[in-house]
Amino acid sequence: MQTYDYIVVGAGSAGAAVAHRLSADARNKVLLLEAGAPSHPWSRVPMGAGKLLYNPAANWLYSSEPEASTGGRRIHVARGKLLGGSSAINGNAFVRGQAQDFDHWAQLGNRGWSYADVLPVFKRLESYESGGSDEFRGRGGPIRVTNPDHSDPIFSTIIAAAGQVGIRHNPDYNGAKQDGIAMSQATIFNGRRQSTAHCYLDPIRNRPNLQIETGALADAVLLEGTRCIGVRYTVNGATKEARAGREVIVSGGTINSPQLLELSGIGQPDRLQALGIQVRHALPGVGENLRDHYAPRTRWGIGTKGITYNDRARGLMLAWQALRYAFGGKGFLSSVGAPMRAFVFSREGLEAPDLLLGWVPMLLELTPKGPKISRQSGMTCYAHPMRPESKGHIHITSADPRKPPAINFNFLSAAIDAELTVRAVRIAQSIMHAPAMAPLNISEIAPGAGRKTDEEIIAWVKESAETTYHPVGTCKMGHDPMAVVDDRLRVHGIAGLRVADASIMPTLTSGNTNAPSIMIGEKAAAMVLEDA
Ligand SMILES: Cc1cc2nc3c(=O)[nH]c(=O)nc-3n(C[C@H](O)[C@H](O)[C@H](O)COP(=O)(O)OP(=O)(O)OC[C@H]3O[C@@H](n4cnc5c(N)ncnc54)[C@H](O)[C@@H]3O)c2cc1C
Repeated sequence: MQTYDYIVVGAGSAGAAVAHRLSADARNKVLLLEAGAPSHPWSRVPMGAGKLLYNPAANWLYSSEPEASTGGRRIHVARGKLLGGSSAINGNAFVRGQAQDFDHWAQLGNRGWSYADVLPVFKRLESYESGGSDEFRGRGGPIRVTNPDHSDPIFSTIIAAAGQVGIRHNPDYNGAKQDGIAMSQATIFNGRRQSTAHCYLDPIRNRPNLQIETGALADAVLLEGTRCIGVRYTVNGATKEARAGREVIVSGGTINSPQLLELSGIGQPDRLQALGIQVRHALPGVGENLRDHYAPRTRWGIGTKGITYNDRARGLMLAWQALRYAFGGKGFLSSVGAPMRAFVFSREGLEAPDLLLGWVPMLLELTPKGPKISRQSGMTCYAHPMRPESKGHIHITSADPRKPPAINFNFLSAAIDAELTVRAVRIAQSIMHAPAMAPLNISEIAPGAGRKTDEEIIAWVKESAETTYHPVGTCKMGHDPMAVVDDRLRVHGIAGLRVADASIMPTLTSGNTNAPSIMIGEKAAAMVLEDA
């Protein structure tokens, strides 16, 4: 059995940052285990995300259990399965969240997680060279963040329309205040995706004290009494064990981290016993507190020719886009998934916005094999509450690590989420029907004229909404009986074991979750090193 100081399970947004920082000290011997592949050709091309969304070569391809809020549908739960994890297949929008998100975590009793605490970490992880104030933005970190090209008239038209319904233009929503409409800041540089594999791992691959194993599925953390001493994993059908002299850091993400704990005998005793798994440590919160953004997609036809990606991504136009990309990293293929977004207040009197709207200048048809670019020219605008209160859960249904866990979202189980979802849809409609949009010859496809009342809109949400792939919370940080880790991300009751990824978030951040997940990885590594 090989011995390391630290073993990191999962090389995603958080895990890659953890491994990078821990191995910066040549005295630390680090093993980084990743179940997926070293890379995928489409993962460096920003719009290549569409080719990876339903692709088993880079994606775990989970799906949720059917439930009432989805009209009995299973929701697609994409998760990156390669170095870089979900940061290597995501939509590339860079959103930190609000100061209030982190202050709330601190108010829940999590020392070291207030906005004042995490701001320096956000600054340290990024290199944002294109604007913003030095008070809020970092210039020398590993992740390059850029502002997408906004010269396209479709974007200035939407900004003008938003202005007509009282939403201000706020180019740096990661700065002093989040509210307003803006081009999405992007983890894209020179037309290439800035995944954590590229930014945190590529520059350090030759460190002699870091070993990266891909195709390595961890199936248990090894326990000696209440101390974690290593990891068991499978590579090419062979089972191996590695010992951690100091710590194991589980960074498998919101679906896989609770799965790994449960497979290891850490979780709800009844559930584990029913599957024949020996209970090593009772921890009822494992797999609970699942939260995600449940987002209806409003759909719009655009009559004016030549301005949407539907027009640009077909036939000769697509060939032109491929040439632009190949010889300059520009055009449609270098775009953020949703290049424009607005952080909006649902009502007056709120301290910070509570709704998110995101625009994709393209209509997609959802097919069982994934999204297909529609023949009709149009636009999609998704709209949802940012801090949903509905909570679901994720639990294993088998002791076999290759069997996917059952994912139950319980969307809309909190009445406020349904109310705010309707409000978000109505705000999207008000922008898209604003006078400034008239030159685009716009027509509403969905929810459409036939769905006017709140009940009709919610019925449409249930039959059509998808997530925006932001599951968090299943190994929640805190000090209550349902908390899984403490505020130094140590698993309650087990020495030498931490969880560091999106699963530790007690509540969802206001926006997309890649930047906060990297921040969690950075902060985890700093705490591990401090505690050593
Ligand atoms: C399609 C999609 C679009 C998204 N768009 C955006 C966006 O535009 N902007 C944004 O901010 N966020 C976006 N997100 C969300 C964001 O990417 C994630 O929240 C973030 O990457 C989560 O980081 P993580 O470290 O928690 O997990 P991940 O990055 O998912 O990393 C977990 C890693 O652990 C590995 N792993 C899991 N289990 C094991 C095991 N047992 N053994 C070994 N390895 C294991 C996985 O293969 C994976 O590489 C998107 C996500 C998806 C899937």
